[in-house]
Amino acid sequence: MSTILVIAEHRRQELRPVSFELIAAAQGLKKSADDQVMVAVIGSQAQSFAAALSVTGVDEVVVVDAAVAEFDPDIYQVAVSALIEVNKPSVVLLPHSVDSLGYAATLASQAGYGFATDVFMAEYQGADLVATRGGYNQKVNVEVDFPDKSIVLMTIRASVFKPLEGASSPTITQFNLPTVQSRSQNKGFVELGGGNDIDITTVDFIMSIGRGIGEESNVEQFRELAETAGATLCCSRPIADAGWLPKSRQVGQSGKVVGSCKLYVALGISGSIQHMAGMKHVPTIVAVNTDPSASIFSIAKYGIVADIFDFEEELNNQLAA
Ligand SMILES: Cc1cc2nc3c(=O)[nH]c(=O)nc-3n(C[C@H](O)[C@H](O)[C@H](O)COP(=O)(O)OP(=O)(O)OC[C@H]3O[C@@H](n4cnc5c(N)ncnc54)[C@H](O)[C@@H]3O)c2cc1C
Repeated sequence: MSTILVIAEHRRQELRPVSFELIAAAQGLKKSADDQVMVAVIGSQAQSFAAALSVTGVDEVVVVDAAVAEFDPDIYQVAVSALIEVNKPSVVLLPHSVDSLGYAATLASQAGYGFATDVFMAEYQGADLVATRGGYNQKVNVEVDFPDKSIVLMTIRASVFKPLEGASSPTITQFNLPTVQSRSQNKGFVELGGGNDIDITTVDFIMSIGRGIGEESNVEQFRELAETAGATLCCSRPIADAGWLPKSRQVGQSGKVVGSCKLYVALGISGSIQHMAGMKHVPTIVAVNTDPSASIFSIAKYGIVADIFDFEEELNNQLAA
């Protein structure tokens, strides 16, 4: 029997949805029906998350009471290290988030564990664990294995694994945290522009505008088109940098990965590697661009060589008909 340890993530008294995605990912890593999925939650209010984490697929919830309410890299590193020492999991799953990146690599390298980041697929191929992640700026998929590593840490990309439905009754245990000297202090949260905006990682239909829209006054007609079509309006980075749409709507490497999106309509977007990093996984991509050699066409299921303003007019006509 082996244990798969999941580290839940929370912020401002709320569990982050990725915690449940990790639980789903853990199911695919069970080698036998006896394998256990243990979910650890760390913080001064950890106990309050135990009930919400009692979902299908979880065998044990470990409550790690810590002095801080919010994420602290030193405390998390000590806590996860101690959990690994005691429970000897074969795999530890963490969200691929700024929190995990603050301590996971250090922990893995200091202890000599196997390690992979931004993993979007993981499975056993025979006896070997193989993780798949992007490489060369998401241009290729890279399979990573972990020869001779009995413990492997992986940070898992958000919005890839679908949370399981239903509640369960796992064992709930307490774990005493070793003494930790923290070097940082949470000074509070600062909302970025668009902080209360829709979470574009969870929507399934996106219409996205790029520099091809020309000027800010043209944004409104595409906002209306998206609304009529039932899509969420997003954008490439130049549009967010110019402040024409909030940063929370930017798709791509330094924006968001639109993990749940099923239909992505790219309007006047060239298809830079950085933009495609956020959307190239979408099953149906429709691209509209006047340049037939635009890179976006290389990943589009349907490519339309046309002016986006003509497209907008035509689509509006069709939707009104
Ligand atoms: C570290 C780093 C991180 C980055 N992160 C991101 C990121 O997260 N997201 C992101 O998007 N970018 C990101 N970028 C920027 C990226 O490199 C590109 O500059 C950006 O994606 C280009 O945006 P665009 O396609 O809208 O503009 P452009 O590349 O200028 O393309 C505009 C396109 O519109 C077409 N067009 C023009 N007029 C029309 C028209 N009337 N009708 C139809 N088509 C028309 C043109 O043919 C062209 O293909 C990043 C860059 C770096 C260095």
